[in-house]
Formats: sequence, C-alpha cells, structure tokens
Amino acid sequence: MFFDPLEGLDRKELEGLQSVRLRSVTQAAARSPLYAGLFQEHGLRADQIRGLDDLARIPLTDKEHLRSSYPDGLLCRPKEEMVRLHASSGTTGAATVIFHTAGDIQTWADLVARCFHMVGVRPGDVFQNMSGYGLFTGGLGIHYGAERLGCLTIPAGAGNSKRQIKLLQDFLVTVIHIIPSYALHLATVFQSLGVEPSGLHLKTALIGAEPHSEEIRRRIEELYGVKAYNSYGLSEMNGPGVAFECPEQNGMHIWEDAFLPEILDPVTLEPVPEGEVGELILTTLTREGMPILRYRTRDLTRFLPGDCPCGRVHRRIDRIVGRSDDMIIIKGVNIFPMQVERVLMAIPEVGQNYLIVLERQGYLDQFKVQVEVKSEFFVEDMRELKKLQNKITGLLRDELLVTPKVELVEARSLPCSEGKAQRVCDLRGQAE
Ligand code: AMP
Ligand code: ZN
Repeated sequence: MFFDPLEGLDRKELEGLQSVRLRSVTQAAARSPLYAGLFQEHGLRADQIRGLDDLARIPLTDKEHLRSSYPDGLLCRPKEEMVRLHASSGTTGAATVIFHTAGDIQTWADLVARCFHMVGVRPGDVFQNMSGYGLFTGGLGIHYGAERLGCLTIPAGAGNSKRQIKLLQDFLVTVIHIIPSYALHLATVFQSLGVEPSGLHLKTALIGAEPHSEEIRRRIEELYGVKAYNSYGLSEMNGPGVAFECPEQNGMHIWEDAFLPEILDPVTLEPVPEGEVGELILTTLTREGMPILRYRTRDLTRFLPGDCPCGRVHRRIDRIVGRSDDMIIIKGVNIFPMQVERVLMAIPEVGQNYLIVLERQGYLDQFKVQVEVKSEFFVEDMRELKKLQNKITGLLRDELLVTPKVELVEARSLPCSEGKAQRVCDLRGQAE
C-alpha cells in the first residue's frame, strides 16, 4: 500500500527513528565550519544532543547564516564527495546554495517518488514537468523522483506554452507538475487555441512552489479536469518532497522520517500552542553532505489536529498562509497577499491574474489591487464595470479591514512570470 515502509510507522517508532537520526545528523553537522562555530558560540557539544528531548538546545539557523557561509561553509564532508548543487530562487534577496552527495540525490528522489505514489501516480503514467530546470529544484528534483517511480518523464521545462500543449496532446500525458499561477495562464493559452484542456488525458496535477489558495486549486481542477495536489518544499530542505497532500486533500504530510518539523512563534521563538499558526522550522534528518539544523523557513502554517484517514502518522501542515517576511503592513494592519487572493478567486468575474501594488503618496501608504476581469465580463458598459469594481472593493475591505483601490484590467494584461508569480509590487521605497 505504501511506497516506502517508513510511511507506515506508528508515532512511537517514528519518534525513535527521529531521535537516532537527530543524534547522528547533529554530529555530522558539527564538522561543518558554520555549525562548529555556532555550537562553540552557544557552548554546545554535539554529543550533548542525544534525542528529540534535546532539540531545543540546538541554535536556530536562518538564511543569513547560509548567506554568510556562502559558498560552501555548511559542508560537513569534502567537496569532492558532492555531485550536485542547487540554489534557492531568491524569492526574497540573494540566492543560497545547497550541495548534495550521490546518496542525498537518491534519498531525495525516493521522497519525491513517495509523494507521487501517494496520490496514485504509477509506473506507466506519462509525466510532464513544467517547472524550470537549472538551479531551481522543481526541475531536476521532481524529474528524478518521477523517473525513480518509473514514469515516462518529459522534461518540458518552464514556458513556451504552445509547445507544452503540443507535448500534452502528442504523448497522452496523464500527470503534470506545474506552478499554480502558470496553470491558470496556460489555461488562457488553451482557450486562445480553441483547445479544451479537460479533453486531454490528464488525471493528476501536482501544484506547488508558490502560495496559492483553495480557490485556485479548485479552478485548476475544473479547468483541466484533474485532481490537483499541493506540494511543498524549499531548496534548503532539498526542494520538492518535503510535504505533500495525500488523496484526502486536507493538509500536507511532512515526511517526518526525513525532516523534523517544529512550529514556533516567529517573534518569541517559543513553540506555539497546539494547532496555532507559526513559523515552520525544519531539520534535515537524512542529508549527508550539507545537513541543516532547525532552519527558519519563514513559512507560516499550523499542524492540523487529528489523525489522517489515509493511515499515515506523519503530521500534516495546513497550506502556507504566507511568509513571516512577506506580510504587508498598511495603515497598521497586517495583510498577507494570500488573503487578497482568496477573496478575488472566489469572485466568478475575476480572471486568472492579479497584482497588489503598494505606493506612497506623501506620508500615506496606498494599497492598490489590479484585477484581471474575464473577457466575457469585460464589457463596454461602464456602469457594469463600476458595479463590479465596487463589489470587489467591498469584499476586500470586509476581509482586510482596509479599503484598497481596485483597478479592473483586461484578461492577460498583467505581467505573467514563467516561474513563481510575483504578487506584490512594492513601489514605496522609490522616489516619487
Ligand atoms: P525555493 O527554495 O526557491 O524553492 O523556495 C521555497 C519557498 O517557496 C518556500 O519557502 C515557500 O515560501 C514557497 N513554497 C514552496 N512550495 C509551496 C507551497 N506548496 N505553498 C506555498 N508556498 C510554497
Ligand atoms: Zn493522509
């Protein structure tokens, strides 16, 4: 039933394994220049970490540590043993680099294959990967997992929408991996070609790499006639294959045999009460070349309470509500772009793309939302458009408690990136 017997461990077995792995990964990490220094600073010896109960004694690692150790200050084995490196997309700031041994690549492929298998993908499925290849982990990371499982794997890469569609048609593709914002964009290309995406052979879409709402998932499922599963990962923890939805589509199981999760209050750095939202902290339990301990992902989520009917005890995290560093503060109110998205995507007239623009007028922050309107609703009648604009403004105000300026624009007129979507354009720091 499970791809890997480790999926079927009970809680006690899992915690036993985590303790053993934490002990050895801490000792390995202590051989890297970064952790040797950090441990010394904190008066900690690696052999003092004997199991899960000692976890809180380990200092937290954040992106700044990775940057200051650039390029290879986190390696705990000779560089000659490394076979690959990847880098984060630098969603916020400079890139960070992660090295992998051959063993790491294999473990990673096994984890990704486990995710695919969990949602019913099998050898014989034809899989098209629409992620960018190169340093971004959504390309090769997903690719190796699909091959490991035994799928015919098409490394389509990002962009070139017409070719994507031709590949989907010619090779009877059944499973795709696609960034949600690109999935919505690609649907408009299908439309312009007069091809119905739900008429292809697709049955499963693996979507992730960027925050998206339940409403976006439902749209993708309807447009393509598929089941869509959320996939979470970050380069610092390999990339994809960290947490993934099971067929229940109710939260993502974190593979706790490979990643030790904690959820802390991002300000006090204390654990949040059970079930509350906080920052996800992860420790690599199996990585050989470049272990990372208690990494501050900046991603905000919560553990979902209760057991999952699928039988896996690996805890589930809720979809990422935002990052502790992408929160927008407007007139003293904290806003996450995801709140805006949830409201917009539930409005039938709203098209596939939107952009939040922050500007400063005098001393005041202005919060503008540009919203694409589906072509059938983008009518000449100004009164109709005004009515729609007022409706959107009202719904956003009810959710956010501040009133945004809503600007309606034509379908496909906002910039669309091939990689992760840029949802916020902050012009506040620029000269007027
Ligand atoms: P990178 O290391 O460049 O792949 O970026 C990783 C970051 O992308 C994560 O820390 C998250 O902020 C974001 N991310 C990845 N997958 C998801 C997902 N399924 N939902 C929301 N955010 C995601
Ligand atoms: Zn489950």
